[in-house]
Order: sequence, then C-alpha cells, then structure tokens
Amino acid sequence: MTDRIAVIPGDGIGGEVVPVAVRVLDAVGDFAFEYAEAGDGALAETGSALPDGTRELAANADATLFGAAGETAADVILPLREAVGSFANVRPARAYPGVDAFHPEIDLVFVRENTEGVYAGIESEITEGVRTLTRVTTEAASRRIAAFGFDYAAEHGYDVTVAHKANVMRRTDGLFLDGVAAVADERGVDYEPHLMDALAMHLVMDPTEYGVVICPNLAGDVLSDLAAGLVGGLGLLPSANVGPDRALFEPVHGSAPDIAGEGIANPVATVLSAAMLCEFLGHDAAAERVREAVLETLADGPRTPDLGGDATTDGAGRALLDRLD
Ligand code: ATP
Repeated sequence: MTDRIAVIPGDGIGGEVVPVAVRVLDAVGDFAFEYAEAGDGALAETGSALPDGTRELAANADATLFGAAGETAADVILPLREAVGSFANVRPARAYPGVDAFHPEIDLVFVRENTEGVYAGIESEITEGVRTLTRVTTEAASRRIAAFGFDYAAEHGYDVTVAHKANVMRRTDGLFLDGVAAVADERGVDYEPHLMDALAMHLVMDPTEYGVVICPNLAGDVLSDLAAGLVGGLGLLPSANVGPDRALFEPVHGSAPDIAGEGIANPVATVLSAAMLCEFLGHDAAAERVREAVLETLADGPRTPDLGGDATTDGAGRALLDRLD
C-alpha cells in the first residue's frame, strides 16, 4: 500500500534539502507526497506560521517529513510534534568514514522526552525585570520515554545511559529518575544514570563509552547538538519525533539563514531522516539502502562545504541518487 507522506519544507535551507530527501524516498519506495507550508514564509503569506491545513495534513498522514522553520520555529515544530502525537525525539549521532570526527567509532542515539520539561512553554513575568519558567515533569511521560528508550536500545543493541540533574532539580528530575528506575525494574534491564553536566564532558572525552542516552527535553536538545559537533556538524544529524501511531522526521539543524539560498546546504541530515521514516513505516530494506548510499557518498565524496568539500546540495544529492540506481 502506498504510504501518504506530508512534506513540509519550511524556511531557509529546509526548502533546499527536503527536495533531495523526497527524490531519495521516491527512488527507494512507493510514497504519495502531499505538500504543505509552515514557518516564516507561511506567516508572511497566510498570516499563520502553521496553517490549519498543514497541521491537519501532518495529523492524518502516515508520516511527515519536515525541513526547518526560522523565527517561527517554536510556533511550528512544537504544535506539529503534538499533531502527530509525538512523545519521543530520537537523534542518532554517528561518525562516518570520510568525515572528520572526534573518534571514528562514535555511535550515539539520544532519546529525548519531547512533551514537557522546561519546553512546556509556561513562562510568566512576575513583575518588570523578573520572569519565571515552570518546568513540568510527570511520572507518566517519564515512564513512557524510559520504556521507549529501553525498547530502542534492546532492539538496536545499545547500552543505556540516563541524563539528569536530580541533585539540584530534586523533585522534577527525581520523579524522572524514579520513572526510569520503575520501568528498568519491570523489564529487568540495566542502565547508568549520569549527571548531565558531567555527561557533557564524558561525551567529549570518551564518546564510545555511550550508546542510547535517555534525556529530559532540554538536556536532550543540548547534548545532541554537542554530539553533532563530535561527528562532523549539524549537517549530518537526522531525527524522528515518534508517537504511538505517527511520526515526524526532520534534520536536527534549523533553517541556517547564514547559508540559505547559496545551494550549499548538506542534505545528509534530511536524507537520513528520510531513512528513519522508511524504518518507521516498516520499509527496513529501503532504510538500509539509503543509509548505505549515504555512507558511500560521505566516504568517497562529493561532500558539501560544511564537511570540507565543494559540492552543492544538488551535486551531493545526485551522487546519493546515483548510488541508489
Ligand atoms: P535557526 O534559527 O533556524 O535555528 P540557526 O542558524 O540558529 O538557524 P542552524 O540552522 O541549526 O541554526 O545552523 C547552525 C549552524 O550550522 C549554521 O552556521 C549553519 O550554517 C550550519 N548548518 C546547519 N545545517 C546545515 C547543513 N545542512 N549544511 C551545512 N551547514 C549547516
């Protein structure tokens, strides 16, 4: 059966890298693509950064491929993640032959809770010059992300580390850790709890010691960007926002206004996001073909300037497609 894919390129380089990923998907599977607008461009055109039709499309498609949103990112990606019922943000960061990395064997997967924490959006101004932010942690969401992370680790053969700061945020991260411990107990699995600040240092010093890292929302955002730096930059990191029935796939990077329009954005992060989309829909062989093509293209070139090469987005995309023929 043909899978319905909502395609939302968005702003900046989103509009440059998403078409490459769509061509790649077209080469490996049978997908029906439906396009929609979101982001700064949509706001200027329609008065809404996330038009109702876009949200509907994502909520009903089998999967969504999203590029990036600029200034309006928070008004777009948070409701879009909600529209697909996503609670887990999966961000793999691995080293590739041909790309400078801190260590050639880095293979990390951040499993980030993405419905609450400090990104719950509860901020207020108490009085002029004093603002507060409310952090939300629930037992249910903590258990849910732990269960997802442990399952992912078991399925893909990784050890589990859990990032937290329960020595300072005693009640909220305390509850998060309790949720993780309860799920680990039920499953009879091991994991290493790790203070998130110390973990940042250890990820740089001994990155190969870690596999799946289960994180609260903000920690997952920051640590996965750190990991992007370890493996060669944001141009390489894909992500999946997974819910019980649907999911949205997007590169970890944003709209990169500094290089937008130059045609030099690295399409790999979005193409690898497309590979995750294939896997989510049960097309494992297609996902593997895409990953192989990425591996070969990174190893032999051509590579885009962020990786030290001189290829354009289209050139790198064509090289990928040639390897899929
Ligand atoms: P936004 O406001 O949309 O988050 P940003 O510039 O703050 O944009 P990113 O878009 O994530 O954040 O970009 C951070 C840096 O990484 C920029 O210098 C950008 O050029 C670079 N970068 C991000 N993605 C890519 C890519 N696909 N190819 C090449 N460079 C990239």
